[in-house]
Amino acid sequence: MTTAPTLHHRRTTCRGCGSTTLAPFLHLGEQALANALLRSPAEFATERRFPLEVVLCTQCGLVQLVDVIAPEVLFSNYLYVTGTSDTMKVHNAEYAETICKLLGLGPNDLVVEAASNDGSLLAKFKTHGVRVLGVEPATNIAAQANSAGITTANEFFSGASAKSLRAQYGAAAAVIANNVLAHVDEPVKFLAAAKAFLRPGGIVSVEAPYIEEFVEHNEYDTVYHEHLCYFSISALMVIAERAGLRIFRVDRKPVHGGSIRMYAKSAEEAREHAPAVVELARAERGKGYTSLARMQALAKASAKQRSDLVALLERLKREGKTLGAYGAPAKGNTLLQYCGIGTDLVPFTVDKSPLKIGLFTPGMHLPVYAADELAKRRPDYCLILAWNFADEIMRQQAAYRELGGRFIVPIPTPRIV
Ligand SMILES: [Zn+2]
Repeated sequence: MTTAPTLHHRRTTCRGCGSTTLAPFLHLGEQALANALLRSPAEFATERRFPLEVVLCTQCGLVQLVDVIAPEVLFSNYLYVTGTSDTMKVHNAEYAETICKLLGLGPNDLVVEAASNDGSLLAKFKTHGVRVLGVEPATNIAAQANSAGITTANEFFSGASAKSLRAQYGAAAAVIANNVLAHVDEPVKFLAAAKAFLRPGGIVSVEAPYIEEFVEHNEYDTVYHEHLCYFSISALMVIAERAGLRIFRVDRKPVHGGSIRMYAKSAEEAREHAPAVVELARAERGKGYTSLARMQALAKASAKQRSDLVALLERLKREGKTLGAYGAPAKGNTLLQYCGIGTDLVPFTVDKSPLKIGLFTPGMHLPVYAADELAKRRPDYCLILAWNFADEIMRQQAAYRELGGRFIVPIPTPRIV
C-alpha cells in the first residue's frame, strides 16, 4: 500500500461539537496503519508511519484522534471480515432478532446496513424474512457479500449515497451502523445521512466500542488510525442531537472489548433523549469518562502496561523460553508497535483469517501463519493479541495447550493463564 503525504491531515476541531478545545493526553508514537498488513519484506523499507495521538474535547467530552488518514487508503482493501468469528455469529443473530422484534418487521420492510462488511449481520436479518441492503466501500468484501446473496452497494455511506439508494430501494425501517461510526471523520454527517434514509417510525441503530472499557481496563490498544472516536454516551448524545436524532435506548454488548448499541429516532418523532439515557450519561460523567484528569491517568497506566509486558517477554526469552502470538488484529498491531515488540522477541503470529495468512504485521513485521501452526511450532508461550477472543482462542487451541503451551493475555495488565 502506498500513501502520499496529502492523504494525511491533522484536524483542529472536535468532530462531535465543532469546538477547538482539544487537549492531548496519550501519544502512541509514529505508527504504521494497523490494518495495512504487508505482502513481502520488500515493502518494509517504504512503509509509511503516522503520528497516533489521542485528545479529549474539553467542551463535549469526546475522546478522539486528530490525525486523519484518507478513508480510500484505510478501507479499500480492509482485511477484517466479521464472519470469521464464532462470537460475532452469536452476536449478529441476537442483533437481528432484537431489531426485528422491536419494530415488528416483515417482508415489506427494508433494513440497511452502512459498512456492511461481508454481509454476515444482514444475513441474520434475512432469516427473519425482511429485505436487506448493504453498503460497503471495500470492493473485495462487497463482492463477497453479493455472491453470498446479500445485495450490497459498493460505496461509502454518505448523504449522497443514502439519497440515491433510498430512491432505488425505498425508505428504511432501520439503518444499522455496526462498528463504523467511530471510523468516520464526520460522524454528525454520517448520522444525518442515516436519518435521511428512514421512513416514518424508522430507527437508526449504532454499535460502537464503549469508552468504559478503554478507560477502566486500559484498552489503549483499541487506538488505531481507523478508530477516530472513543464514545461515551454523553459525547454520542451531542453527535446525535446535531444530526437531528434523539436516543431512546442504549444496550451494553460484550463484543470488541465492550460496546454500546444506541437506538435513535428522528427529533421530529422524539423531542428529547429518553430519561434513562440522560441518567446513564450523568453516571458516566461521574466516573470521569469525559474528564482530562481521568484520561491522563489512563495514559500513565498504558505506559506501565508496556514496561511490564516487555519485561515479562524479555525475562521469558532470557530463561530460554520460546514465544509466539495469536492474532493479527488492528489492536494487536497497535500494541506491538507501542511496546516495540518485534520478531526478536516474538518471531511469528498466527491467525484464522485466510486473508491475513502469509502476510506481515504492519510496523513490527511479524509473519502471520495459519492458526494450526501454533500447535505445530509449539512455542512455550503464546501472546494473545486478539485478547477479546481469548476464551474462544484457548478453546480452539486445546491441542497446543495439551502439548504444554501457555497463553499470555496482555490487557489490562499482562498475565499468564
Ligand atoms: Zn467536542
